[in-house]
Amino acid sequence: MIKEKGILFILSGPSGVGKGTVRKKLFEEELDLQYSISMTTRDRRTGEVDGVDYFYKSREEFEKLVKEGELLEYAQYVNNYYGTPRKYVEETIEKGLDVFLEIEVQGAMQVKKNFPQGVFIFLFPPSLEELKNRIVNRGTESQELVLNRLKEARNEIEMMDAYDYVVVNDQVETAVDKVKAIIKSEHLKRERI
Ligand code: 5GP
Repeated sequence: MIKEKGILFILSGPSGVGKGTVRKKLFEEELDLQYSISMTTRDRRTGEVDGVDYFYKSREEFEKLVKEGELLEYAQYVNNYYGTPRKYVEETIEKGLDVFLEIEVQGAMQVKKNFPQGVFIFLFPPSLEELKNRIVNRGTESQELVLNRLKEARNEIEMMDAYDYVVVNDQVETAVDKVKAIIKSEHLKRERI
């Protein structure tokens, strides 16, 4: 059987939908999948490790990476930059390994333009009400910010049609199982005797 290049999987969806939780749960298992660690200008949270959770960069460093074309995509999210290292993704796929991105919607749409052969998975909230609860329950945000996030989430949901798959995140385990089934099925699609 021949499977030449690796596959790029992109998990995206609105803020608060639980992309990070689904991705972390997925990677608790032994999978033949490489997680692409993003660059960010946001501060490191307690427990996070540079080079494991993110590569933490200053604004100046990040802007230089953008200028030099080092990012496959990037976006600004709550006043910070986030971006995907182009070289890592391209080289890993060239080697025949699969890469997994967990990124917000603006970035996913840029990947779609630059890398249309990627497999795009949209994580969907069980309902807008539930999404609102999740955003509110994160705690630290003012009512105005919560309303902005919710408005943004509504706009992001409109992008859903551009994706190959939609997975409803009502239960993390079920969502993870569905993502694994998508990965498996994309492999089968590409296998040639
Ligand atoms: P957090 O600050 O909570 O780790 O992440 C905030 C948001 O940034 C999440 O929606 C996450 O999916 C997104 N994100 C993480 N890395 C990247 C990236 O490389 N590019 C883009 N566009 N979004 C990212």
